[in-house]
Amino acid sequence: MKTNLWMFGLPEKKPEQALKILSESGFTHLSLPRNNNLIKLALDYGFKVYVFCKTFGLENKFRRAEYLAEDIYGRKYIWFGSGCPNNLELRQKNLEWIEDTATQVDISGISLDGIRFSSPGSGIEAFFTCFCETCRRKAEDLGYDFEKMRGDLQRLYESFEKPKFLKYVSSAVEDPLMLLDFLTDFRGVVEWLSFRADCIAEHVRDARNLLKSIDPELELGAYIFTPSLSSLVGQDYRMLSLYLDVLQPMIYRLGKGVACYNHELAVLAEDLSRLTSLPLSNTLSLVYKLAGVSEFNPPLDLNKLKESGLPLEIVSKEALRAQQIALGKRVEPIIMLRDPQVEDATRKVLSAGCSGVNFFIYKEGFEDKIRKIGEVVRES
Ligand SMILES: [Zn+2]
Repeated sequence: MKTNLWMFGLPEKKPEQALKILSESGFTHLSLPRNNNLIKLALDYGFKVYVFCKTFGLENKFRRAEYLAEDIYGRKYIWFGSGCPNNLELRQKNLEWIEDTATQVDISGISLDGIRFSSPGSGIEAFFTCFCETCRRKAEDLGYDFEKMRGDLQRLYESFEKPKFLKYVSSAVEDPLMLLDFLTDFRGVVEWLSFRADCIAEHVRDARNLLKSIDPELELGAYIFTPSLSSLVGQDYRMLSLYLDVLQPMIYRLGKGVACYNHELAVLAEDLSRLTSLPLSNTLSLVYKLAGVSEFNPPLDLNKLKESGLPLEIVSKEALRAQQIALGKRVEPIIMLRDPQVEDATRKVLSAGCSGVNFFIYKEGFEDKIRKIGEVVRES
């Protein structure tokens, strides 16, 4: 089967030249912002175009406290420029954008970005959301015990200060019986993760139904977290597979922002070190165990993790994990184009059995990399 070869974005200068290089290198799909001139140009070159959106973005009038996510102490946060995923107005705004885009622009599909709750990379306090009044009502409607979720999450947060607590977590990571004990003790936290997943799946379902009612040929994709982090942010691959045509896991082994795997683990380790007063190398070691990547000997030096990222083998592991939990749907991961080992990373995604591979983000000067990727895909 032909590999779907995607590029995210185009350089601002000379987009026509970029399209020519991508076409010659065998690229088939483009992920673009809603820019009618750029989309028309891409269609002229024969590309399939998906338009992406920030699902719960806080543009203009939505930059108000009432739209933000709320933590266990009632504090409000903006995460990834986004607000509460259960806010009805934010959801409606996204659905209206999808309807307008799908009816006005000649595209193959839409990719939801930021279709989640906040992640550890936005800081542990913003991660421990959302407990706003809308979420309280939503939790009650779905049969969750809101106070239990908030109470257990607060107890977890406050336990980090206790010297022995991280040892307990460490033993739970290594010993199935201790893990069961931990999960039973903090079952409100497990419920909170499940609540997050139900809410996100609900909006993805609504987006899918809207898109298919406009044109059944239109496809819905989503840029979702790499499998080992996805359950933290409300992205259940199995549930999402019911509604998405293509799953687009962000397997960013190196990068500097939220959603990059190395950044998410680095911030979590830093926050745990701050809260527990334990050395950073200890908390790094723990988060690697939690993510299931210790076997690849990731760096115990925070700067190295931030600058050079996680070992390349992790791309294979996450691509395989995604395939296992995607219920037969197309899995087409997005990886970093600036990765010095991007050709090897491409091979790893394809050898995991993924139906395509996507690259973030096309900047001027990456033309040689793009041509080499084309060669890798032709040879695979
Ligand atoms: Zn909320």
